Amino acid sequence: MRINAFSDVCLRALMLLCAAPEGELFTTQAIADGVGTPYNHVSKAVLKLRSLGLVEAVRGRAGGVRISQAGMAVTVGALLRELDGREDLVDCESPNGDCPMNNHCGLRGALRRAREAFYHELDDLVVSSLPHQSQMEPVFVTLLTRRPA
Ligand code: SF4
Repeated sequence: MRINAFSDVCLRALMLLCAAPEGELFTTQAIADGVGTPYNHVSKAVLKLRSLGLVEAVRGRAGGVRISQAGMAVTVGALLRELDGREDLVDCESPNGDCPMNNHCGLRGALRRAREAFYHELDDLVVSSLPHQSQMEPVFVTLLTRRPA
């Protein structure tokens, strides 16, 4: 199973914000630079994360976003269920599905169970536990040295 591109960007942005030095605010552009993803994708991800209460925005010239308490506590499983909850793993589950083997198909149930097992495996994995120093330090060094004084 593959997570969708939007979920991937949301996870990257959350990891960056979870690991940020305390009190630092990040613009959307800084997050985009930090996670190596185009601005417009990150902008949509930040909006979604805000709507879920996982990041907080501070307005003003020196404003930006930071992680919220809920963002520090969210699990990968919970986030993916929220963002990537596709019902139509297979054609027969989409509104226009027209598979002729639709009657009591055993594959459909097996795929649903496999998807649930995938999320279940990630239900205890807290996003904020993922970033580690050697992973994030080069990212923050680059971002913070680029920042205007
Ligand atoms: S084979 Fe089964 S799971 Fe696949 S599309 Fe047809 S009914 Fe759905």
